[in-house]
Amino acid sequence: MTKSDRTHKSGLADETELLQPGEAGEEVNGAEEVERKHPLVGATDRLVTADRHDRVLFDYSPAPESRSIVHLQPSYGLFIDGEFAEPVDGHAYKTENPATEEVLAEIAAAGARDVDRAVEVAGRAQQTVWGPMSGAERAKYLFRVARIIQERSRELAVLESLDNGKPIRESRDVDVPLAAAHFFYYAGWADKLEYAGFGPHPAPIGVAGQVIPWNFPLMMAAWKLAPALAAGNTCVLKPATTTPLTALLLAEIIQQAELPPGVVNVLTGAGSVAGAALVAHPGVGKVAFTGSTEVGKDLLLSLAGTGKHLTMELGGKAANIVFEDAPLDQAIEGIVNGIFFNQGEVCCAGSRLLVQESIADTVVERLKNRLATLRMGDPLDKNTDLGAINNAAQLEKIRSLVEEGEAEGAVRWSPSCTLPEHGYWFPPTVFTGVSQAHRIAQEEIFGPVLSVITFRTPEEAVAKANNTVYGLSAGVWTEKGSRILWMAGRLHAGVVWANSFNRFDPASPFGGYRESGFGREGGRQGLAAYLDV
Ligand code: NDP
Repeated sequence: MTKSDRTHKSGLADETELLQPGEAGEEVNGAEEVERKHPLVGATDRLVTADRHDRVLFDYSPAPESRSIVHLQPSYGLFIDGEFAEPVDGHAYKTENPATEEVLAEIAAAGARDVDRAVEVAGRAQQTVWGPMSGAERAKYLFRVARIIQERSRELAVLESLDNGKPIRESRDVDVPLAAAHFFYYAGWADKLEYAGFGPHPAPIGVAGQVIPWNFPLMMAAWKLAPALAAGNTCVLKPATTTPLTALLLAEIIQQAELPPGVVNVLTGAGSVAGAALVAHPGVGKVAFTGSTEVGKDLLLSLAGTGKHLTMELGGKAANIVFEDAPLDQAIEGIVNGIFFNQGEVCCAGSRLLVQESIADTVVERLKNRLATLRMGDPLDKNTDLGAINNAAQLEKIRSLVEEGEAEGAVRWSPSCTLPEHGYWFPPTVFTGVSQAHRIAQEEIFGPVLSVITFRTPEEAVAKANNTVYGLSAGVWTEKGSRILWMAGRLHAGVVWANSFNRFDPASPFGGYRESGFGREGGRQGLAAYLDV
């Protein structure tokens, strides 16, 4: 990619330049830069006086989180039976930092024989140790894991941002705390299963084969492992190829917490090899998959008739619906959080903005103005709002769908910004003039791309929101509680956020309908997925 490809200009006269570290002094949107005394600390800051909405914009200095807390090993083995081991076939691959394309480590690639071994030890551990153990004892182990995640939270956050490309602000404040919270929450259920509403003696299923994606590597591992273990199952976890490192650090934490060997096993390697062998293995009684609808459908076909318990958390194309009576300042933040959180690589991302026609122009203008203040760049910088796209294939998918959006006649806009020289980057992008039939209104882009669609009445909003093959999430912004309830009852979505978006809590079930999958993770409902009920 040439440097000019990386400077993204929308060509609109009214945009605000995205500030890059060290670029203070440039004229920004016609505003003049001045030296000012900082009112709180007395330091002299270089400030940009104001944008055209009279907001003062600060020129942030770089604030990189140190990566010295992470001790990367040159190579990592598979975690089987409580120990790290070489794969039988000796295959390995390299994982890289998507923000720089720097190779981080060599990772073992499991083959079918490694899967056999992991499932066998997991089965034995379930039958002899973990299954017979009292719930109260299991809870002690899970509380221990939760506490160690908290103790090692900085290390986990830095490693997650290095391997995934997400901003440290998100890995530190969302991914890692939520991972700990899931272990705390399900530790609390481990000795209360008979009161969970699934009968007096709910039994575990056995060995859970769990396949997770790259967008929330540690959090997805926690969502899968915590309820399974609380319910008395043992686990074989397959992380995504591009983000194995925090799952391997979690394996180290499992060792540190002294879980009995074989209770948790982590097999890195290709989905088409290790993942496919794991879900098909006759010793696996429960398959939990999070990933693309395409792979999910293939797995459903291949597992039909096997009698395995299944949960599938697949794609989404959520509508974030803003009514004219919505609190607009909060709604703008909710729209930004809905689609630009984690670079839009979120299955429940609010990738379709449905805005009432009477306020559409205002909302789009304010949104653009807000986007111009987002900082894109080094994921380890604490000021960064948007990090790198996780992998080259994903970047290519985003690019091609965005080009298709333009070709179909929608109007593309991005704030002007300079993309880093190396790595996989895509600027925050907004499409207006989007019709329901456009591919960008129908397909999951899984990137920082928002499609804006207007509506006039609540009925039209519901019809347009439901006009998708997916059914994972939705957001409703209005001051009327009755309207929120009216909408929530009609939207085909597993989760409906009211005057908020992308809020997660371990006590709250999460999951979809239609091509977004089935089954719930989180809450009491998340236990059902791991009990023979
Ligand atoms: P995939 O569905 O291919 O990957 C998800 C997980 O499944 C990974 O661990 C992957 O391994 C594994 N896997 C792949 N093929 C198989 C198989 N045949 N049997 C068992 N496991 C398998 O998603 P991608 O990473 O390729 O992303 C493609 C698209 O999927 C994205 O553009 C996005 O639209 C969507 N997606 C949705 C997610 C969600 O949260 N709902 C998460 C990630 C992606 P490996 O990494 O080795 O391929």
